[in-house]
Amino acid sequence: MVKKSDLPEVEKVSCDVCRKEIPLSEAVIPEAADYVAHFCGLDCYAEWKRQSEKSKNKP
Ligand SMILES: [Zn+2]
Repeated sequence: MVKKSDLPEVEKVSCDVCRKEIPLSEAVIPEAADYVAHFCGLDCYAEWKRQSEKSKNKP
């Protein structure tokens, strides 16, 4: 039996905004978050930041 293992295992996460799957090494992870969030790029990070700031205004 030969087990194929030529594909490196890449841990994947999904973007918190658009749900796109991205390798963990390429994810944008904000430092000052209450929970761990991942984004496929700075555009989604900016979008998430805008939404979280909006929801912060609620009591
Ligand atoms: Zn995204």
